[in-house]
Amino acid sequence: MNQTASNTADLVVIGGGAAGLMCAATASARGLRVTVIDPNQKLGRKLRITGKGRCNVTNDCDQETLMRNIPHGGRFLYSAFAACSPQDVMAYFEGLGVPLKVERGNRVFPVSDRASDVADALAAEMRRLHVELVHDRVTALLTDPEGRCCGVSCGKKEYAADRVILATGGATYPGTGSEGDGYKLAASVGHTVTPLQPSLVPLETLERDCAEMMGLSLKNVTLTLKKD
Ligand SMILES: Cc1cc2nc3c(=O)[nH]c(=O)nc-3n(C[C@H](O)[C@H](O)[C@H](O)COP(=O)(O)OP(=O)(O)OC[C@H]3O[C@@H](n4cnc5c(N)ncnc54)[C@H](O)[C@@H]3O)c2cc1C
Repeated sequence: MNQTASNTADLVVIGGGAAGLMCAATASARGLRVTVIDPNQKLGRKLRITGKGRCNVTNDCDQETLMRNIPHGGRFLYSAFAACSPQDVMAYFEGLGVPLKVERGNRVFPVSDRASDVADALAAEMRRLHVELVHDRVTALLTDPEGRCCGVSCGKKEYAADRVILATGGATYPGTGSEGDGYKLAASVGHTVTPLQPSLVPLETLERDCAEMMGLSLKNVTLTLKKD
């Protein structure tokens, strides 16, 4: 039988990336006892490589502009943006002691140009709010007889919780910890998982021209791909 952690947490957050850390900090600041579970010793590993190591935190624009620039499924994000605008995100990180600057195209970066400052600020907030951190990988969701999710299993150990939030990221850059587990965990409790599609992809060419243009952003560009 698996060993079960004695205390039932108010909330277990699976994943200590950008989403999981902000979620855990917010819930803990509102008085919940929160546990974050992530196999990585260093939190926010993907966050640390974002924006070519500078972290493009958000875009300092209004909600309509934000929606216009989301290629697919923007409507799904309406309520999230209504609850947390880019300006709320900026105020949040400045409040955590990360001064921000706005660059061309209203892109927002830390003044330090270091993505790690953003991740470290979130990790420090976890410590300040006494969020419990467990370095392990969740392998299954636990459900009660009514089918309600009531905890998680990490194989050898189980963690009971009143609420469980899945913040395991997507399937890109699996070396940072996001190996696509979230899709399997969601499907295991009856959620529908649609086929995965990349949103941004790197293109590799045999020629050197593209590599030499690395870091260059171009406007109004069309790409034609001819097979064979
Ligand atoms: C190269 C690159 C550059 C990017 N640049 C930017 C940028 O400048 N600005 C921007 O807004 N976005 C950028 N993004 C996108 C951004 O990184 C992601 O949108 C963001 O990290 C998603 O956060 P997340 O918390 O959902 O997932 P992640 O950051 O991927 O975190 C998921 C966490 O869940 C953990 N996890 C996974 N499975 C389990 C499990 N079974 N049990 C426990 N824990 C688990 C992982 O270890 C990981 O820590 C970039 C992405 C890449 C790859």
